[in-house]
Amino acid sequence: MPPTPHTTPEPGETRIRDRGDACPGALRLHPAEDGRLARLRLPAGRLTSRQVEALATAAETLGDGRISITSRGNAELRGLADDCGASLAALLDEADLLPSPTHERVRNIVASPASGLDGLGHADVQLWARDLDAALCAEPRAAALSGRFLFVLDDGRGDVAGLGGDVKLIADADGTAVLWPGDRRVFRLAADDAVRAALAAALAFLDAADAAGTGAWRPRELPVTHVPDWAGALAAAGIAAEALPVPPTPFSAPPGPGALGDGHLYVLAPLGRLTAAQLRALLPADEVRFTPWRGAVVVGAGPGAAGRLGGLAAHGLITRPDAPLAGVTACTGRPGCAKSLADVRADALLALPGPLPVHFSGCERRCGHPHGAWVDVLATGTENDSADSYSVDDVPTPRTSLSEAVAAARGPATPTR
Ligand code: SF4
Repeated sequence: MPPTPHTTPEPGETRIRDRGDACPGALRLHPAEDGRLARLRLPAGRLTSRQVEALATAAETLGDGRISITSRGNAELRGLADDCGASLAALLDEADLLPSPTHERVRNIVASPASGLDGLGHADVQLWARDLDAALCAEPRAAALSGRFLFVLDDGRGDVAGLGGDVKLIADADGTAVLWPGDRRVFRLAADDAVRAALAAALAFLDAADAAGTGAWRPRELPVTHVPDWAGALAAAGIAAEALPVPPTPFSAPPGPGALGDGHLYVLAPLGRLTAAQLRALLPADEVRFTPWRGAVVVGAGPGAAGRLGGLAAHGLITRPDAPLAGVTACTGRPGCAKSLADVRADALLALPGPLPVHFSGCERRCGHPHGAWVDVLATGTENDSADSYSVDDVPTPRTSLSEAVAAARGPATPTR
């Protein structure tokens, strides 16, 4: 007899899953209220110039003309026709955005976006991300990871370490790296072994999940009787690793929009979405890196890169930390999501600037909310059949006073000039 499935386990109870994850992919399109949705994994958020063009073309010719940036720095296309799957796959394949059809949903790698550009950090983890992606795609067993399993690679500055990875690597001084498989064990190892160690840890998780038979998607869902043999997996891979006490997770604030290092730029996408024209406006560039904060690093923006910021602002991109929509995010909301109680994206445009991030959600799932401290704006339904209502950090708030309530919750507004 298979175990009885539970949707919400009690505290301390093991989650039992009777099916694989339903995460959308580039080849597995999700039916949404506004058409099919495709989620395209971009390891470390990276796009070449050619891939920027391909993604913009896919949005224009097959979707609704927009590209969403997810909280893992991946890309989503919405408004796709039911029968566009083959055309989309061909277009992405032509641009080398589908290196492995069997692994396309497991290439979930977040890496410090400015790594290698600004002299901070102990290693260039963008290079680690490319090597890890290649190693994942070359390992047949890795295709069994869930579409939610996340690798996080932090170059030591602490910008992405807190984003909740299942296997985390943090570069450290003296050519070492710290591996966090799950959240209860930590190992120090040579940085040269970091990528192999991350893959070995992921495979150790799969072994434990198979043995447990509970259908776990992530290490924290495993029963306590089936903790992976992390140390054994590293040893079997020939990796020398020293177990460490679990330290606090390093943290630093994400970059603000503007010039970044020497010849690079960072811009934010308003409410996490770019039009095809806004995406193309990032070119010319050596490459573009989408970030978990719904922005884009423009790598190699050319001589006088900072002078391009005015033009990008004219395209509607956020180029200054004190711009009104900097720090404002929203879930899909109505009409794209059937669960939403309001058109949260339209209402989020009412938000005023302030020091804290703010996130608008159409229901209590709060998809894509930020990490750390943030203001929670939650749609609560329609009051008296006349206007949408919200709560702002649990305080009931009619839509008519939404901007004041959000501004009060964020603290004193930063002047825009
Ligand atoms: S938070 Fe709710 S309404 Fe918003 S996208 Fe997620 S499921 Fe839909």
